Amino acid sequence: MVLATNLGFPRIGVKRELKKATESYWKGEIGAAELLEAGQNIRKTHWMMQKDAGLDLIPSGDFSFYDQVLDMTCALGLVPKRYQWTGGNVDLDTYFAMARGAQKNGLDVTAMEMTKWFDTNYHYIVPEFEKGMKAKLSSMKFFDQFQEALDLGIRTRPVLVGPVTYVVLGKKKDDSLDDAQIFADILPVYIEILNRLKAMGATHVQLDEPILVRDLWEGADQDFERGYTELRKAVPDLNIMVATYFDSLRDNLDIACTLPVDALHIDLKRGADQLDAVLKHFPADKILSLGLVDGRNVWKNNLRAALGIAQKVSDKLGNDKVWIAPSCSMMHAPIDLDHETKLDSQLRSWMAFGKQKLAEIAAIAKGVNEGEEAIADLLAASDAVVSDRATSPRIHDAEVKSRMAHLKPEMFERKSDFAERRLAQHAALGLPVFPTTSIGSFPQTAEIRTARASFKKGELSAVDYESAMKREIEQVVRFQEKLDMDVLVHGEPERNDMVEYFGEQLQGYCFSQNGWVQSYGSRYVKPPIIFGDVSRPKPMTVEWSVYAQSLTDRPMKGMLTGPITMLFWSFVRDDQPRSETCKQIALAIRDEVHDLEAAGIKVIQIDEPAIREGLPLRKADWDDYLNWAVDAFRLSSSSVADSTQIHTHMCYSEFNDIINSIAELDADAISIETSRSQMELLEAFIEYNYPNEIGPGVYDIHSPRIPTQDEMVKLLEKAATVLDPSQIWVNPDCGLKTRRWEEVEPALEHMVAAAKTMRGRI
Ligand code: GLN
Ligand code: ZN
Repeated sequence: MVLATNLGFPRIGVKRELKKATESYWKGEIGAAELLEAGQNIRKTHWMMQKDAGLDLIPSGDFSFYDQVLDMTCALGLVPKRYQWTGGNVDLDTYFAMARGAQKNGLDVTAMEMTKWFDTNYHYIVPEFEKGMKAKLSSMKFFDQFQEALDLGIRTRPVLVGPVTYVVLGKKKDDSLDDAQIFADILPVYIEILNRLKAMGATHVQLDEPILVRDLWEGADQDFERGYTELRKAVPDLNIMVATYFDSLRDNLDIACTLPVDALHIDLKRGADQLDAVLKHFPADKILSLGLVDGRNVWKNNLRAALGIAQKVSDKLGNDKVWIAPSCSMMHAPIDLDHETKLDSQLRSWMAFGKQKLAEIAAIAKGVNEGEEAIADLLAASDAVVSDRATSPRIHDAEVKSRMAHLKPEMFERKSDFAERRLAQHAALGLPVFPTTSIGSFPQTAEIRTARASFKKGELSAVDYESAMKREIEQVVRFQEKLDMDVLVHGEPERNDMVEYFGEQLQGYCFSQNGWVQSYGSRYVKPPIIFGDVSRPKPMTVEWSVYAQSLTDRPMKGMLTGPITMLFWSFVRDDQPRSETCKQIALAIRDEVHDLEAAGIKVIQIDEPAIREGLPLRKADWDDYLNWAVDAFRLSSSSVADSTQIHTHMCYSEFNDIINSIAELDADAISIETSRSQMELLEAFIEYNYPNEIGPGVYDIHSPRIPTQDEMVKLLEKAATVLDPSQIWVNPDCGLKTRRWEEVEPALEHMVAAAKTMRGRI
């Protein structure tokens, strides 16, 4: 029998119950017992959902109050010293202190570092390995949750972060530590957990080793083999599955296929190309888990295609050697489409969220087990969706396709090179050296948010909303003039989330009401959904920018979000390469750039904070990605005259790997986040000899702290020793929307004063 299985389910709850519970707990509104109960309720609902869908292997341990990697850290008892944990099972307050930092009960500690989980928008808490740490089982999570499900009549398959991935994702805090040593320390705890689960009645476990889709280190094959051989020996008769996802195995295929475990999971969405190679090498005694249903997107599965693949594999390996699964944990997808009552019905008919994906998995398994006829209705329905999508005029816009077919090389090039443009821009703008500007947004005050909410509810008329925003813009403009800033912004009060703001005005986008996915902890995002060819029916920002410019003689910066960021922070259509979609968005932004320029805006910023996170997992794929990403940015920005100045902005990035491509964007000026690292992030630009203008952030906007003038002068001095002073802009690290006016006002005042001090020295 082919089994229907799952690798992980979203944990946030259909109505974001987890967010409500954890945040209430943090505020002290509910106690630990209530929080634990909320977790239990969510788990129960989700397990029953999976059971009702007919799944044979349902995960446990995929639930977490914050993050599954942090849970693993706690299970291993690897709590950094600063949390003053005294042993025993890691308590909730220590757990949340590790996740978020803490300032109470005499403890004042920073959080553990957080970083993106592979190429997803989910952030995990990075394990910290300190000298003298000793792994020891310190959390009952896996056992408690297994038992909880067992009491509901469900024998789950517990999921753990695999030991190799766990070690590699962690950070060594002491040079004397090495991976082998840490691995040797934690493996006995893994063995203890697995044996204990087995004693409780577990028959299967899942060890996630997504590290197997990345470029590995010299000797990785032996490390994997040794580690898993030891594990196998100590846990002889539990069915162990190693799960890989997010890409194909490629040169790690051998490692994965020869591991002494019982089953291997492969991602056939992001790694669709690997199937034939895997089948060629796959050992006859192992089970292959096929990731056929996309765990990272919202589109309905092409059931006939998936069934074909499953059938082919089962013909080759045998019926009892195949499991059907999502491509990866479903935690990266929203939970239930049934709650989307406002979504257009045709678009909705093309989609599947978590619950619907469970049904798809069950259907594929049933189709292989009982034959095509057993799922004839479902196949017919799926075929209908496939052909509806393939032919829908709502997806396929002839005008967009024709524009795409007629792109000319000159559309990707500015008219002159930077040296010449620079002269034209300096003549047009007349800016001092060390010109000051900000990144775009100003504080999103309670009034702004209330006005937007009332407008969306229909309680505030469009006219009144617009005048409220205009009042805000005027205030922001006057404020910047008062501070004597050089290039002004309008403050973006009309934007809640920038990607949503532009998406709502573009053709080819739609929005869910409840399609939340966890980004980190209790922070969830609701990505827009790009379903079709993207175009811009009419100007999106021109009126706001023109109004703002009308208030002042100083240059007003037009503010746009770039095509790469628009792409990565959305659910993207899966019926054409992402590069195509990105270029379509670029054309829409290009239209906006054109209209802003025609309306007299002389400086235009196109934000690309997501460029770095889009990097593929394998180095071999980087060039391809960077080529189309750079092309998209250039397509969006290159139509303007020499005298129009194009800015871009990036944050949360290490630039070393991609500095070449950043230079190729050929923006006249770039602003980057550098203050927290004391300008360290600037190094890539220095080493590369970055030719265009650059604004290394001097104000850490992620902190309520107000930097002094002196501090900022020091940062600028540091920058001026390595860059040509005429290259340097003075600006904060990022937008100011999360800050309060009381902080922004003195901070920017100090910033302008710092710029003037620098000018005085030239
Ligand atoms: N212009 C945007 C802002 O200031 C940039 C946001 C970002 O970089 N994430 O808010
Ligand atoms: Zn930013």
